[in-house]
Amino acid sequence: MSEKFSLSHAKELDINDPLREYRDRFIINDHQLVYLDGNSLGRLPLQTIKTIDTTVQEQWGDRLIRSWNEAWYLQSSRLGKRIAQIIGAHPDEVIVSDSTSVNLYKLVYAVLKIMDGRLEIISDDMNFPSDLYILQGLIKQFGEVHTLRLLKSADGISSDMTELLRMINRKTALVTLSHVAFKSAYMYDIDKVTELAHMHGSLVLWDLSHSVGAVPISLKRANVDLAIGCTYKYLNGGPGSPAFLYVRKDLQEKLENPIQGWFGDQHPFEFKLHYRTADGIRKFLTGTPPVVSVSTLEPSLDLVIEAGIGAIRQKSVQQSEYLISLAREWLFSQGFRLGSPEYAEKRGSHVSLKHAEAYRICKALIDPEVGNRIVIPDFREPNNIRLGLSPLYTTYEEIYSAVDQLRYIMENKIYEKYPRTRDAVT
Ligand SMILES: *Cc1c(COP(=O)(O)O)cnc(C)c1O
Repeated sequence: MSEKFSLSHAKELDINDPLREYRDRFIINDHQLVYLDGNSLGRLPLQTIKTIDTTVQEQWGDRLIRSWNEAWYLQSSRLGKRIAQIIGAHPDEVIVSDSTSVNLYKLVYAVLKIMDGRLEIISDDMNFPSDLYILQGLIKQFGEVHTLRLLKSADGISSDMTELLRMINRKTALVTLSHVAFKSAYMYDIDKVTELAHMHGSLVLWDLSHSVGAVPISLKRANVDLAIGCTYKYLNGGPGSPAFLYVRKDLQEKLENPIQGWFGDQHPFEFKLHYRTADGIRKFLTGTPPVVSVSTLEPSLDLVIEAGIGAIRQKSVQQSEYLISLAREWLFSQGFRLGSPEYAEKRGSHVSLKHAEAYRICKALIDPEVGNRIVIPDFREPNNIRLGLSPLYTTYEEIYSAVDQLRYIMENKIYEKYPRTRDAVT
C-alpha cells in the first residue's frame, strides 16, 4: 500500500471498495465536482429518470385517471413497505406521506391526546429546529399546559445519557429526538433510550431523517413506538420527495390522525359524508399524495436495499475515519477541530469540522476559481463545515480532494477575500 496520506492511497481505497460500482448507477455529469452534501440532497439515480418518464408519459399521459387504480392509489403503502425493510419495521407499520414536519405534527398531536396527565415533552437542543418549532406550536394549540424540556448538550456535539435518564419520569408524555443530530452527527442508542422511556411509561418518537439509508436501524428490536423521516437525504428521493411515518402496530388503533382527510378514510372514492377511519397505517394519510415525487422514491429505495444497509454502514464508517485522519494530519494545526463524536459507533454518516472562519472557508470551497476542484460541503451555523458521506457514490478520492483543498485554502489564507454576510440558503 502507498503512503497513507497520498492521492494514490485514496485511489487504492476506491479500487478495493466493494460498493464502487454503485456510483455508476447515479448521474454524475461533472466528474471533477467533489459532492459531500448527499446528507442534504442525495444524487440523482439513473433509473429515477426512467421512472419519472414512465409516471409522466405513460401513467399520466396515456392512462390518465385510470392510473389511480393501476398504480397510484396504493403507492404510499407499497413504498412504505420498502422503507420498513430499511428501518427494521413490519411492512404494515410504515407509510409515505407529507413532509417530515407535518408527520411529526400528526403523530405528536395524537400522542398528547392519549397521554392524560403527562405534561412534559423531552427533546434536546441539538434537534432539527423544525422539529422544535412543531413541538412549540403544538404546546400553544393545546393551551400551554405542556412543557418542552430540552436536554442541553455540554459541547454541542454529544448528549449525556445520564442527564437524559434524569429528565425522564412519570410526567413524561413523549421523548422525541433525532436519531442522528443534523449538525454534529451524534447518534443516539435507539434501543437504550427507548427502553428507558418505556420504563417510565412514556412514548418515544424518533426522527430518522439523518440516519435512514446510512445506518442500520431496527425499530422492531428496540420496540419503538413512533418514527418519522425524510427521503431526499441518504435515500436519494429527490428535492421535496415526501417523508414517511411509522406507527407500531398496536398503537395504530389507539392514535387518531388530527388531520382527517379523505385519503385516511376507509373508502375515499365512496365519497361518504362522514369520515370512517381507515384501518391500519393508512389512517395517517390526509390528502392526495404528490404522485410524481412519490414515484422517484422507488428506484432509490431499491438501490439502498440492493446494496444492503450493512455494507453501506461499513463503508460510511471507513470513509469517516479516513476523513478524520486526513483532517488531523493537515487541518487541526490550522485552527480546525472535530465537530463530531470521536468514535464511529456514536456518529452518523457525516463529519463536521469546526473553525472560526467556517463560513468564509465554505465560500472558498465552492468557488470554481479556487484550487483545481469545486467542493460542495454545507455550512451550519455558527462554525460547522459539514462533510456528508453517502457511500453509494462518495469516493475516497473525493474525500482526499476535499481535505487537500481545505489545506490549500488555509495555507494561502484564501478565505480572507470573501465577505462574512450569509446567503439565504447555506
Ligand atoms: C431534513 C430534516 C427534516 C426535514 O423536514 P421537512 O419537513 O421534510 O422539510 C426534519 N427533521 C430532521 C431531523 C431533518 O434532518
